[in-house]
Amino acid sequence: MQLLEKAPAKINLSLDVLYKRPDNYHEIEMVMTTIDLADRIGLTELPSDKIIIDSENQFVPNDERNLAYRAAKLMKDTYDVKKGINIFIEKNIPVAAGLAGGSSDAAAVIRGLNRLWRLGMSVREMAELGAKIGSDVSFCVYNTTALAKGRGELIEELPAPPSCWVVLAKPAIGVSTQTIYQNFSPDGVEHPDTQGMIRALQTEDFEAMCGKVGNVLESVTLPMYPEVRQIKRQMELAGADAVLMSGSGPTVFSLAHQESRAYRIYNSLRGFCDEVYVVRMLGYHQLLD
Ligand code: ATP
Repeated sequence: MQLLEKAPAKINLSLDVLYKRPDNYHEIEMVMTTIDLADRIGLTELPSDKIIIDSENQFVPNDERNLAYRAAKLMKDTYDVKKGINIFIEKNIPVAAGLAGGSSDAAAVIRGLNRLWRLGMSVREMAELGAKIGSDVSFCVYNTTALAKGRGELIEELPAPPSCWVVLAKPAIGVSTQTIYQNFSPDGVEHPDTQGMIRALQTEDFEAMCGKVGNVLESVTLPMYPEVRQIKRQMELAGADAVLMSGSGPTVFSLAHQESRAYRIYNSLRGFCDEVYVVRMLGYHQLLD
């Protein structure tokens, strides 16, 4: 028996760090949505009781360090399933890019195994289990548009953003999320208007949404990696409606209402940056994909 699951990348429309908690996690508020750039996960039952990661991407571990492996192990242990599984990962999302690729793979494995093994878990139950793997996994289980609070695991669904184009550019560097958070200082940082972003989504106001994008982690990543700032500037010059770094970076995205504008931005980045994508915003429930 084989089953396929789509694992889309996420972008942050806003990302705010409120304070550092006594448990050393940061209390955050993020508005996130999904885009049409996705890994594909194939789940195939095995005759023997083991977990195999089947991926040809050189940047992704093929063992228990893989978040997809950890998701399968957690599902097996939690529900005492004595079956083996082969996890094929077609990796299309750039790795260590701020697009939650690993978290989305883990979430897709949880959704897929829930179906394959007929466990009957609700979305909330899957998201709570996913939080044990990583803060972004809960959001990725929902696969929608949402406000994420706490350390990222408390999810409140929001309306999908107005339909538009997203141009993504990833410079040839990987950024460690942990390092960026460790170097973050709230002093003098301009905080995004999270409530304003939520209102823009509720009123389906594309211009207001563009006016409210903001990410406090730019205050760490931009000085550390000048190429990220350069890409931002290039996108702005090419006429993007909004430009922002996703997560802890280094991927920068721009929003464009018109397709022609999106391709103008894309063309302006060629020669500048090897990994550039033009995709559609998704942002609505796709649990059955
Ligand atoms: P986030 O936005 O959630 O911080 P990211 O996009 O910055 O995530 P990922 O692509 O998820 O980063 O990868 C981060 C690290 O996790 C990489 O160094 C990679 O080796 C490891 N990893 C483990 N499993 C996976 C996976 N299935 N896909 C991608 N990376 C994985």
